[in-house]
Amino acid sequence: MSNNRTPRRGVLLIVASPSGAGKTSLCRRLMADHKALELSVSMTTRGIRPGEVDGRDYHFVTHEEFQRLIDADAFLEWADVHGNRYGSPAAPVERALAEGRDVLFDIDWQGARDVAAKCPGDAARVFILPPSLEELRRRLVTRSQDAEDVIERRVANAKGEIEHCDDFDYVLVNEDFDRSYAELAHIYHAERSRRHRNLWVDAYKQALLKEVV
Ligand code: 5GP
Repeated sequence: MSNNRTPRRGVLLIVASPSGAGKTSLCRRLMADHKALELSVSMTTRGIRPGEVDGRDYHFVTHEEFQRLIDADAFLEWADVHGNRYGSPAAPVERALAEGRDVLFDIDWQGARDVAAKCPGDAARVFILPPSLEELRRRLVTRSQDAEDVIERRVANAKGEIEHCDDFDYVLVNEDFDRSYAELAHIYHAERSRRHRNLWVDAYKQALLKEVV
């Protein structure tokens, strides 16, 4: 990416959506194409799904361990989602911000709200809408990672989640993966270029102004 000057403040890029809208696939592709972008690996009390890897997709922990981490104030945010607990560990995010690195969050609207409230200048929130609820159900069934009752609960919860898209900075409708991905990547690039994140600009500007031409 062109803009690699330092010092800079990192972007906390938060991507939220109802389950099945394609958020995780979009986030994976963004990570694959941007090696400097770091994923905030959440802690969760939900069971591991086929194909998931502990420590890569989530840190899978017991309810007791999760409670211990809440008590130790170890989360930037945490929430109950679909009957399980999910939380973003604070320490890696604090380190990344201090070092000017960008962090990607694949979290729900509650987490997006809380991270934006705690880190107002750093967060950029993107909400991904499905083309329709029918399509959302079809995608959840096709990925066949969840039992039927879990899928129905997720579809039923989707409307409540969609209500919260008003709070987000950007909204995408994920009809076509490649197009949505291009839009997400553009948002990320634009956020990186925002003046307030690029702390090197002042010194650079002064040097330009001193140039004798
Ligand atoms: P899933 O069980 O499908 O992996 O995730 C369910 C929902 O929880 C998704 O919307 C996911 O983005 C959200 N989620 C995952 N990690 C976190 C987290 O650390 N905090 C919050 N608030 N939501 C999360």
